[in-house]
Parts: sequence; structure tokens; C-alpha cells
Amino acid sequence: MISIPPSLAPAKEEALSLLRQYWVETPPVSFTKILRGLGLSLIEKDFVWDTSNISWFLDIENNTIYINASDNFQRRMFTLAHEIGHFLLHKNILAREPGKYELVYRSQQIEWIPDPIEQQANCFAAHLLVPKTMLDKYYHQASIDQLTTIFWVSKQVIGYRIATEY
Ligand SMILES: [Zn+2]
Repeated sequence: MISIPPSLAPAKEEALSLLRQYWVETPPVSFTKILRGLGLSLIEKDFVWDTSNISWFLDIENNTIYINASDNFQRRMFTLAHEIGHFLLHKNILAREPGKYELVYRSQQIEWIPDPIEQQANCFAAHLLVPKTMLDKYYHQASIDQLTTIFWVSKQVIGYRIATEY
């Protein structure tokens, strides 16, 4: 088992407390109540800026998360969770430095993003989508492929969660 660094513990706790607050107890995690409760709007659209590889976009002033509709479903789930993490954990930083964390790129991988803010949002997202209490119920019976279907996440996210729990 790999321990998550102490700097990421608050992100994990924030994710678990959000699930408790909205009584989310079964996978795949539903965002409907969470978004409504947090006062966040979600807009899925095709990003056409060709610079891009843009997966999501947070408009902090209007409490709106934009998700790239052309991303696959697993990625949309993860980026939405990641963005909610930024909203809960980093709202003050985002308000001070608008634009700084608005964009995330597909090439970024969960394990090695050097920016601590991004690491926290990824840790939040992984624990929000695959909390241990839910993973415990399926881990011993389901294959990795089945787990990705049950939790609507990528193999990478399942692999990360298994490595950090067992
Ligand atoms: Zn981010």
C-alpha cells in the first residue's frame, strides 16, 4: 500500500465529508445533488479552441464548471470531480489569481502533476469517485475492468485507489 502524503489528507477528508453530507453511498457517484447543494452549474460543450486539449474550465465568478463534451465519460466524471475539488479547496486562491488554474490539460497524469494544487484536486477527485467504503464492497469480487464500469472511472483511477488502500 502507498500512503498518500500528509499534504493531501485534507483533500481526501473534504471529499469524504461531501459524500456524507449528500448521502451518496453507492457508485457511480451521482453529482446531481452535490452540484445543486454547492450552487454550481455544469455546462458540457465542445471546446473548439485548437490550442487545446482542454478538459474543463472553471468560471469561479459564475460558479460554473464547463466540461469538454467530446471527452469520454470517465474523463468527464473525473474532471467534474477534480473541479469540485478546486471549488471547495481552492476558491480563495482562484479568486485571487483568476485564470491561473482555469485550464487543465489531458496530458496531465494523476500521479505526477507537480503542482500541489492540482495534486490536491486529483486526490479529492479520486476519493470522491472511489471512496474506500464503496471500494471495499467490490474490490474482492470484481476485476479491474468491472471496477471501472461500476465506478465510471478509468483504470488509472482505480489503480491509484487500490494502491493507496490495500
Ligand atoms: Zn486542476
